[in-house]
Amino acid sequence: METRSPSYHQSQADKLSPRELERYDRQIRFLGLGVEGQLKLKKAKVLVVGVGGLGSAATLYLASAGVGLLRIVDDGDVELSNLNRQILYGTSDLGKPKVEVAARRLKELNPEVEIEAIRERLMEGNSGDLLSGVDLAIDCLDNFRARFILNDACVERGKPLIHGAIYGIEGRLMTIIPGKGPCLRCLIPREPAEQGRIPVLGPLPGVVGSLEALEAIKIITGLGEPAIGKLIVIDGMDLSFHAVEVRRNPGCPVCGGK
Ligand SMILES: [Zn+2]
Repeated sequence: METRSPSYHQSQADKLSPRELERYDRQIRFLGLGVEGQLKLKKAKVLVVGVGGLGSAATLYLASAGVGLLRIVDDGDVELSNLNRQILYGTSDLGKPKVEVAARRLKELNPEVEIEAIRERLMEGNSGDLLSGVDLAIDCLDNFRARFILNDACVERGKPLIHGAIYGIEGRLMTIIPGKGPCLRCLIPREPAEQGRIPVLGPLPGVVGSLEALEAIKIITGLGEPAIGKLIVIDGMDLSFHAVEVRRNPGCPVCGGK
């Protein structure tokens, strides 16, 4: 008779079970990762702020990759106009809190992963608590006010932050490692005016959210080179990817003195 431990959570942190070895087989075979990299993913804790279009793709890939803990934060409910891009949700989820539906979906995808669902809006007052204990944060937000709060909190605490944004058929991504490269305020000194309902073609947040997950996996495992000091601009119209060099601003009010 097959015996199983009462909870997947009780699997040992410093070992991979036969089920985990099978689940992650295709990525463990990637020489840059291996069992060692997989164990780093298993021990990692990642904050994902926003589970909309970007957050759907980012969390699905991070959960399937075996990141040990995902803390997901969003105060929204699932709306009909979300469904052209927010692939965590279906029509039967309308009206339900996004973080609750997302937690169930991610847990179903990979029961080995711990999900902390926090139904809150990121603000100055809770940013420290939300970042507490995590290795890095991912910006899957839809407004610059909250992005700046997240950037400032990450720089203050020395936590890596992966910035992603979408407008229409254009996507942007930059990885921020405090002390090693520019922060979001070096790139955008002043908060841009908010634009209400931003137009979005669904595949674009899918692409950018997937790249955010890739950057997170790279930072956690030490694989390759993250896009530090490089703004990646993806233009869906001609399918071009550009890397625009971004320098640290010595007078940046957030990271200038650090
Ligand atoms: Zn800065």
